[in-house]
Amino acid sequence: MTVKGRIHSVESCGTVDGPGIRFVIFTQGCPLRCQYCHNPDSWKPSDGQEITVDELMKEIIKYKSYINFSGGGITASGGEPLMQPVFIKELFRRCQEAKIHTALDTSGFASFEAAQSVLEYTDLVLLDIKSFDPKTYLDLTGVSNEPTLRLAKYLNEIQKPMWIRYVLVPNLTDDPGMIEALANFLKDFTNIEKIELLPFHKMGEYKWEELGYEYLLRDTPAGTREDIEKAATIFKKYNLPVETN
Ligand code: SF4
Repeated sequence: MTVKGRIHSVESCGTVDGPGIRFVIFTQGCPLRCQYCHNPDSWKPSDGQEITVDELMKEIIKYKSYINFSGGGITASGGEPLMQPVFIKELFRRCQEAKIHTALDTSGFASFEAAQSVLEYTDLVLLDIKSFDPKTYLDLTGVSNEPTLRLAKYLNEIQKPMWIRYVLVPNLTDDPGMIEALANFLKDFTNIEKIELLPFHKMGEYKWEELGYEYLLRDTPAGTREDIEKAATIFKKYNLPVETN
């Protein structure tokens, strides 16, 4: 059976979405509406381009020796890859069969069963926790953070290697009490390899304008090195492996 999916784009030599050099597949469709989204053109599930797993594998295999030599692999990002669990599961299955490392970059907002099915063939999860505070999360993304926190706990239960990603947005997600609550939630997890703190920036603003959406963070300043260092101090207090580059 030929499994198909819809993608926004691919990047053959990514260096930020997982270890080593990554072939990154940005899937089409996302149920969130993050105020700082860089890819609002990935939101609509019907946009983008249809592609089969066979077609994608042909592309990926061209980069296999390069990717593997660097300790890299493929990363399914988005959009939200868990909106297309059958497609991602098959893609990851084929990659693992070909000895290529698989990483899932997700917000965790998905049906639990869909996530479970994909995890069977996932080597590493990059979990974006956009805020630990339910109201801030809802304001920022338009959805609840419950599925994300549930998935985080499950990933620890099954000891699936995980990187946590947290975007620091001035006046929105940089409240020290809120960050401390997240650190406290994560402190006993034993599957976290890394916590990445990412500064907010406005790279996607022009896309919002092109698509006719209102960009609410127009007046929000970009995050500073100092903000990142302050937040890192909180995670370090809980002995969590935080990185600040
Ligand atoms: S989860 Fe990612 S793709 Fe979806 S809205 Fe948020 S930042 Fe954009």
